[in-house]
Amino acid sequence: MTSAYPSISGQFLINGEWIAGKRVTAVTNPAILTEVVGEVALCSKQDVGQAIDAAQAAFPGWAGTSAEKRAALIKEASSQLAAIIEESVPLFVRENGKVLVEAKKDLLRCVEIMSKGADALVAWWKTESIPGGQMVQIRRRPRGVTAVISPWNSPMILTFKRVIPAILAGNTVVVKPATDCPLTVLSSLRVVAAHLPPGVINIVTGSGALVGEQICSDPRVRAIAFTGSTETGKRIMGMSAGTVKKLYMELGGNDPALILPDAILDEAAIERIRMGILRAAGQVCSAIKRVYVHESRYEEFMTKLKREFQRMIVGNGMQPDAMMGPINNKAQYDFVTGLIERTREAGAHVQTLGNKLEKETWENGYFLLPSIVTGVSQASELVRAEQFGPVIPVIPYSDQEEVIAMANDTEFGLRASIWTANQQLAEALADRLDAGAVFFNNHTIFQDLHLDFPGLKESGLSRETAWCGIDLFADTYGFAN
Ligand code: NAD
Repeated sequence: MTSAYPSISGQFLINGEWIAGKRVTAVTNPAILTEVVGEVALCSKQDVGQAIDAAQAAFPGWAGTSAEKRAALIKEASSQLAAIIEESVPLFVRENGKVLVEAKKDLLRCVEIMSKGADALVAWWKTESIPGGQMVQIRRRPRGVTAVISPWNSPMILTFKRVIPAILAGNTVVVKPATDCPLTVLSSLRVVAAHLPPGVINIVTGSGALVGEQICSDPRVRAIAFTGSTETGKRIMGMSAGTVKKLYMELGGNDPALILPDAILDEAAIERIRMGILRAAGQVCSAIKRVYVHESRYEEFMTKLKREFQRMIVGNGMQPDAMMGPINNKAQYDFVTGLIERTREAGAHVQTLGNKLEKETWENGYFLLPSIVTGVSQASELVRAEQFGPVIPVIPYSDQEEVIAMANDTEFGLRASIWTANQQLAEALADRLDAGAVFFNNHTIFQDLHLDFPGLKESGLSRETAWCGIDLFADTYGFAN
């Protein structure tokens, strides 16, 4: 463990008390497989039951706390979290594999989620009156015990983005972070929880199949905010049906990038495309996962993308020279390497590019150099599956209708990007793409925290376009005479 966080290793939080897990498993550094970063508790059924008991007991008091007070407590906690960011970054890099710059950005975003959410709450919470003859008010109230289940790839943002709006809205939470990367979530939520009454935030850890399923099937849990794979999301939807829980689902993606005949392919654009593909070694729900290039620009695009991939330096994220870190865990590493192998065996051309930062220690981490794959069809497993790694298929196309059909030919609908000099054309095509958000000459995230547009089709449920997501976590009800 890093010295800054000796107390969260192997522990979980119930009703304000940190409890040492009777059973634990190691969290290892994906860049140095022999390094144990800390331990994560494998909670029992009883632990999970007690966490839900605590959240249930704390709910009336927290729901009855004024919006102003809730906002003030979160604001205070955000200042304290901001003060320890520099200490938190190394822990996050060591358990996740992200490079330093990306890890720090994620942590800063968590502070912003808290501070902007707190600012947004009070204005949003106000009762609205509907004009007309009858007195009708729209009032807000929280839902109750809310489960937040998050994945390993960007666990900080994806946990904070749900926990903070949920508690700001007056709910209490039971959080289940991913076993492969839980420590920075635990250490940072410890700071937040210390500012709140006991039981408002409870955290249990352990396997999704045991701990996750028990949380999702408990009738006292009234809402579930889940971020993870579509497969797990579907299981959770099934488990929630019995007690009609409210669901917020951010699921898998297979984002296409469409390079049109008039695309501007200057250095800056190619760098943005590379970032869209390789940020966090491709382990991003809304990474570019397929590129369709008009045949008239195909050769030029390939030359430029290869040159850009060749610049990549892959290594331990703790080294400032590393541009891309390792894959986070063995299961994902095996999946990506297997997928590349199967694609090669099926006759595709796989070009592996980039540089190893440290050749001597390469085999001691889940490192992969980035690859560009050509000679694949729309039916290829690499095009249809969510690779979640640094490998990208590039497919030429000849006409606009064909590329729209190929882009939409997937069960996913998270994001997409259109690369062209013609904004009007991009807007017209965006209307026809199955995506929760379409980027123009970019493939990134929304800068403004008020804005987010989760996936369509099997990429998600619920829309969040204002108020830092707080509106997702409260019910409105009518009061009338
Ligand atoms: P995952 O679905 O395997 O696990 C996510 C979380 O769910 C983990 O905490 C896990 O322990 C838990 N879980 C697993 N099985 C469960 C079950 N049966 N019941 C309850 N909980 C269970 O996903 P992952 O591999 O951790 O993350 C990668 C996936 O997440 C990718 O598909 C990626 O696209 C998706 N993702 C989506 C978004 C988004 O915003 N749309 C963001 C990040 C990641």
